[in-house]
Amino acid sequence: MVLEETPNFINLSSTYPFNMEESQPGSSKGGNNANDSPKKTNNSEMLAYVHNLSPVKKSKRQVSYFNCNLQSQDQSFEAVAFKPELHETMKESTENKSPIKISGFKRRANYRNNQQQDIELNKMTKITMLSEAPFKYKSMKVDSPDVMKVRSILDNGYDRQMVSIVGHVDLQNTFAMKFNSNSRKKDIHFNDTTGSIPITLWDGFIDSVTNGGSYTITNIMVRMIPHPILSTCSSTLFNNNSKIVKPAKTLLPLFQKYCGVQSFESSKSVKCIKCNFNATVNPGANIFTCSECGVKSKYSSLPIYFTAKVKVIGNEEEVTIFHYQLKEFAAISGCDMTEDALSDAILNDEKTTIVVNQKNVCVTFL
Ligand SMILES: [Zn+2]
Repeated sequence: MVLEETPNFINLSSTYPFNMEESQPGSSKGGNNANDSPKKTNNSEMLAYVHNLSPVKKSKRQVSYFNCNLQSQDQSFEAVAFKPELHETMKESTENKSPIKISGFKRRANYRNNQQQDIELNKMTKITMLSEAPFKYKSMKVDSPDVMKVRSILDNGYDRQMVSIVGHVDLQNTFAMKFNSNSRKKDIHFNDTTGSIPITLWDGFIDSVTNGGSYTITNIMVRMIPHPILSTCSSTLFNNNSKIVKPAKTLLPLFQKYCGVQSFESSKSVKCIKCNFNATVNPGANIFTCSECGVKSKYSSLPIYFTAKVKVIGNEEEVTIFHYQLKEFAAISGCDMTEDALSDAILNDEKTTIVVNQKNVCVTFL
């Protein structure tokens, strides 16, 4: 099974100021910070305004967290929060530009600059919304790459570069799909005055944009697969931008819809429990030996992933239907997740619409 791309929203190494491995919530283990200073618990309170709030994200170890900047009376901090329950209050604070009182947070050395401190909000942290503070809300400039025009990205590629763009999103006729057991993705349109480019939104970003909304998007990654698209990652920020309102131009369709499957061919694969390597199932064998890391496991102990290749009416190319979309179909049609039941149900189905992306991968059924 070939995955079409890898979610890179947990690419923390280069862009993220905290070492996630060291900062598990509830862990009392001292962090190994740049200047080796122990974590300081600060019981005093801080008044701050919230800027550049990210959606709630998940680390590789399934730890929920989000980032923001905090503007206090005399300085500003980068902050990470390991308590998703705080997100709603902080979102409200961002939207209303109203101050909050934070208590029970930790100060940590900044990853890039030892003279600077970061704030860690954790399970112990409490936040209260305030109606006013003795200092004013200041607009905060995001430390970001230069704003690029969509036309320039389309023309030049810039694979794996972080860029910033300004424009508006179009969510009409777009579909979220399950990518694996932990993540979802959604391809949407983004337009500026020079052109239109697809953006892949991962997980928390999916519900954080509104149709027709204008945004300054900072730190979004260009990927060539094979045409340029933009993909959100852990440091991506969407800031509402009320100034630019532009009607949508004619957009290239991101998805095609088909009805009626003519042929169905499926394969089964398993994932190594140690390294997650994908391998096709060897019929008749009881033991699976991972060719990547050498670990042996019983086939019966591993979850099976189905992939189907189908021919649909009106499309010359084969359409790939991955496991989670086959599961979706099985749920719609009430059939079992076996090859025979799936092929029967799909070949006999004449009313379900298959939504297919530009790579001829099924994203959902309607
Ligand atoms: Zn392995």
